[in-house]
Amino acid sequence: MKRVFATCDIGPALDMLRERGYAVDVYPSPEPPAQSLIIEKVGSGIDGLITTLRDKIDAAVFEAGKGTLKVVAQYAVGFDNINRADANRYKVPFTNTADVLTEATAEFAFFMLGSLARKLWSAEHLTRENKWGFWHPYLPFLGDEVTGKTIAIIGTGRIGLAMIKKCAGFDMNILCYDPAYQNHEFIKSIQETMDLRHARGIQKEKTWIKYVPFEEALHEADFVSVHVPLIREGESATPTFHLFNERTLRMMKPTAFLVNTSRGPVVDEGALARALKENRIAGAALDVYEKEPLPVDSPLRDPAIEDLCRLLPHFASAGKITRLSSDPDKGMAGRCVQGLIDVLEGNYGGDVKKMPYVVNKEAFS
Ligand code: NAD
Repeated sequence: MKRVFATCDIGPALDMLRERGYAVDVYPSPEPPAQSLIIEKVGSGIDGLITTLRDKIDAAVFEAGKGTLKVVAQYAVGFDNINRADANRYKVPFTNTADVLTEATAEFAFFMLGSLARKLWSAEHLTRENKWGFWHPYLPFLGDEVTGKTIAIIGTGRIGLAMIKKCAGFDMNILCYDPAYQNHEFIKSIQETMDLRHARGIQKEKTWIKYVPFEEALHEADFVSVHVPLIREGESATPTFHLFNERTLRMMKPTAFLVNTSRGPVVDEGALARALKENRIAGAALDVYEKEPLPVDSPLRDPAIEDLCRLLPHFASAGKITRLSSDPDKGMAGRCVQGLIDVLEGNYGGDVKKMPYVVNKEAFS
């Protein structure tokens, strides 16, 4: 009988495993287990481990599973919590749930952007706190329109491209930056769509999209939306750790807004809080943090910047279908479980390199 430990309940998709006769042990608490417990479970000889971004999976875990652990199935597209070099050294394939959360994450990034620019938080507070004393052309404050503005998309992978689609629908000009992957065909198709919409009178102004260097993207944009993986120094030629820092935040316009749905450590939070406090940028909306959950003493909680800073609880993929569907083409849960099944049941002729959800294929060539 195959044995699986899930560090978190990922919902009804786990029944797919139970129906196949697997023994499924689910960590019962909503909080993450200690790493020592994961090591203990792995050491007990389980075949598969289901993880989330909250679990640190490194050599200690792989050592405990030496000879028995066959797969780590990560319930997320990002896998910066898994030490890829260690997984490769122990020859344990790990899977992720790319694609199924792309549109949900991109639309949430767009909603964060809209909420920030049009001051939905402050506006609702006026109503709820009975401070909405009159209708007035510009008092007590105005927001900034999104339509017709320029956005910089930092990272044009799956979610970045999906975000581009949403922004094009709002008649935005789009600056793209990605040092490692440039999808010129996609960008050309978006430009053609923009031109057609203009020619047919669907949008009044002509809009454009182009790849530019990082500095130009930051200098020119009214909005900057970040869609990169967390890559620490030394892990690749294009690290993203503190990509937004004291120096690069100063490249943004004082009227510009930053939106981050990627990973917290991509933004130096101390530098961001200072930039907001000194009005060097107009606002920021964050879904992810250097430390999660956001600590009580975080500088981002400073009441002086509350109106400029939206703080969401790592929620961008948190749509019902996206999170829970058992269909591997729709839900993270389904895709996570299918990735685990592929490895444990030797699908694709047992060739890990052919399995669509396995990330570290390089370890098996
Ligand atoms: P992806 O791999 O398809 O795209 C990432 C892109 O970033 C790639 O094109 C890559 O070339 C580019 N990139 C790498 N280094 C860069 C750099 N230094 N500067 C600019 N671009 C760089 O990944 P994806 O599916 O689009 O997901 C992106 C990230 O979003 C994930 O790794 C994850 O951390 C995060 N994410 C967060 C949530 C959430 O709930 N907030 C949900 C899904 C994904």
